[in-house]
Amino acid sequence: MIFKRSLLKLSIVFFALQAVLLADAHIFNYHRFNDDRHPSTNISNENLRAQFDFFKENGYEVIPLSKLVNAIKNQDEIPDNWVVLTIDDGYKSFYKNGLPIFKEYGYPFALMVYVEASAKKYGDFMNFDEIKDAAQYGEIGYHSYGHLHMVGLTEDRLRHDFKDGISTFEKHMGYKPKYFAYPYGEYNSKIIEMSAEYGLEVLLAQNSGAVSKDSDLLDLDRTPLMNGTNLPAALASKFLKAEWILPKDYPKDNKIDEVIIKTEENATFGYFSATDKSTKKVKLKNGEMRVKFYDPIDKFKVRMSLKVNGKTTTKILVKDINAE
Ligand SMILES: [Zn+2]
Repeated sequence: MIFKRSLLKLSIVFFALQAVLLADAHIFNYHRFNDDRHPSTNISNENLRAQFDFFKENGYEVIPLSKLVNAIKNQDEIPDNWVVLTIDDGYKSFYKNGLPIFKEYGYPFALMVYVEASAKKYGDFMNFDEIKDAAQYGEIGYHSYGHLHMVGLTEDRLRHDFKDGISTFEKHMGYKPKYFAYPYGEYNSKIIEMSAEYGLEVLLAQNSGAVSKDSDLLDLDRTPLMNGTNLPAALASKFLKAEWILPKDYPKDNKIDEVIIKTEENATFGYFSATDKSTKKVKLKNGEMRVKFYDPIDKFKVRMSLKVNGKTTTKILVKDINAE
């Protein structure tokens, strides 16, 4: 009897834990592997194994990016235990230290290539022979030609970056890339439009969050993973379907003084946070949030998020330094 009761307790704890941990699919983002010269973007072999063991022991399924993309395109329900692992920049340390561990666990990945660095064989980066070797175990995407702060580029300069990048990628890989991770996670609506023009179908941000079938393929949330990331907390985040009505991009006067977000949630309040402002409880009216700042935000890069009913929507606003 005592045994049965404790078993029951144990299974209640187990289900509660699952409910917390299994919350929408998640896309994660690595940069450097076992390279302590750059601690803020590095993961040690030991910590990478610990994260992979966590996925394995807690029922997570690491799937190719294309599988998640197809499910969203088909509007299939997305299983809560799906995880997609992406790698930005294509550093040699991935080839040398990360790839063997991915192979050991049989985990697929999507590698986002900084095309100029790989084509010109810059020291720290994988060359295209190494990328083609890695492509046997994962998918290869695009991380721009020159790895520039794209929002501040003139239209002409931006087009050059796309043209050079896509054609050089195609020359080496034999196909055009479909997946694009923005350098520094910085973008605006001009860059989203131009990416689509150049055949990029899936755009990956660097805004921490989750992915559901309602996610926008042209603006997918992606959470960075490094030494010290709280993985269970990252896996607990849920996607909030929302329309960011105002502002769409960084306002021309360079001051963010009002934010309007429309959700379909049946709730009277949520929690809004923005760079330079502390998180505050906000009212919702018919699912809509309106916040005014008496002290406008004026920063190069502003991250914002709204959490309602435990689900989160995110946005990044990057100042166009060339805008008049
Ligand atoms: Zn990068």
